[in-house]
Amino acid sequence: MSENFQVFDEDLSEVTLNYYLEADAIAVDTETMGLNPQRDRLCLIQICDPSGFVTAIRIARGQTEAPLLKQLMEAQNIEKVFHFARFDVAQLRYHFGIETQPIFCTKIASKIARTYSGSHGLKNLVQELEGIELDKSAQSSDWGNAANLTPKQLSYAANDVRYLINLRDKLTQMLKREERWEITQKCFSCIPVFVDLDLQQFKDIFEH
Ligand code: MN
Repeated sequence: MSENFQVFDEDLSEVTLNYYLEADAIAVDTETMGLNPQRDRLCLIQICDPSGFVTAIRIARGQTEAPLLKQLMEAQNIEKVFHFARFDVAQLRYHFGIETQPIFCTKIASKIARTYSGSHGLKNLVQELEGIELDKSAQSSDWGNAANLTPKQLSYAANDVRYLINLRDKLTQMLKREERWEITQKCFSCIPVFVDLDLQQFKDIFEH
């Protein structure tokens, strides 16, 4: 494993928490057994700071708290950058009672900035804005066997957070240039409301 990648069990260490608390932004992603937090286990949480230092936290079966992670995710002065924040923020809220904030979502940012494209997946974004081909072939894999994750799974998991802060910077530039930054920020502030609705099983209540 490379020196800018480490793996922990159940929570951050104090040293790593204090390290990330110095950052002005961190990228965050989660891997789960499926899309339904009430049914599907949270297996892995990945964090990356602007220098590219990645930590993966393996979550134990039945684990209901991660106090050091909670402290980091709720730190007001550190922006949490996700791709499709609605999903990961719901996972963290449901499993550990974490109220993530403040939030930047590269998927929402892309939908508002890149209206010339219909492709807002992470792979597309990284390809267009970073010129890098992401290997997503481990995306749908068994994340439940946390103690025995394969090197391929761990490198996939790390790559899912590695480009998010650069994407945030580039998308923010585009949004400001096109005068769409204000509406985008308003959308980010709505994400906790969508998470509440999702966790209470409300569907499409804004539809006619
Ligand atoms: Mn992922």
